[in-house]
Amino acid sequence: MIPLFQPAIPFVMVLLGPPGSGKGTQAGRLAEAYNLPQISTGDLFREHIAAQTAVGKQVQKCMEAGQLVSDEVVLEMLFKRVEHADCVNGYLLDGFPRTLAQAEELQRHQEGRARLAALCLQVPDEEIIRRAAGRRICRQCGAVYNDRLSPPSSGSVCSRCGGEVYRRPDDEPEVVRRRLEVYHLQTRPLIDYYAGQGRLALFDGNQPPDVVYVALKKWIDAEIGRYSE
Ligand code: AMP
Repeated sequence: MIPLFQPAIPFVMVLLGPPGSGKGTQAGRLAEAYNLPQISTGDLFREHIAAQTAVGKQVQKCMEAGQLVSDEVVLEMLFKRVEHADCVNGYLLDGFPRTLAQAEELQRHQEGRARLAALCLQVPDEEIIRRAAGRRICRQCGAVYNDRLSPPSSGSVCSRCGGEVYRRPDDEPEVVRRRLEVYHLQTRPLIDYYAGQGRLALFDGNQPPDVVYVALKKWIDAEIGRYSE
């Protein structure tokens, strides 16, 4: 049974970290543990691309090249999504914000409406490149697998939903290197931004997923406890 999580004020958790640091995996587990939706802007864009919507057509090239989609397009999609009823108690953001402008817009949007914490998974670049080489995801539910660390139990079939597990085109080594450059240039400054606001918690993401999960959960439980006192 999932314990009922009904905070007095919605709790928004931002998962920060380089591409392939485990944000998706951890956000999925935390979403289940706290009964909050996991919102991955990357997954939302992949859904748009699969459905060939106008947004999908607009962002596909940019994504495949490992570049960021424009703030305007991301913000419009994200703010529409968080109006859904399932976000009433809060949500987990995976892959958003990625620029200072996005973080500032999120801040403005949340002001007085929600409590926000940023949880950052730290993983060295060499490990990110190694992980991307073995990473595969489910086309249907977005579950993340790694051929070396956590393969699906049966070939290319998702252990969670039975969907097809595939390799993302932007996980090709050259594109991963570009995504890492983009991360260091545009997203890493958010660590200082959230640290300056006293909202940041750093985690060693270069450990087995179960160990990282326990550390994240312990911190979140303590944070929830602090707010319920
Ligand atoms: P992800 O699945 O989070 O690694 O995102 C895959 C790709 O989607 C990124 O490389 C970007 O092209 C795009 N994307 C996802 N989230 C954002 C965001 N917050 N800002 C800009 N582009 C994004």
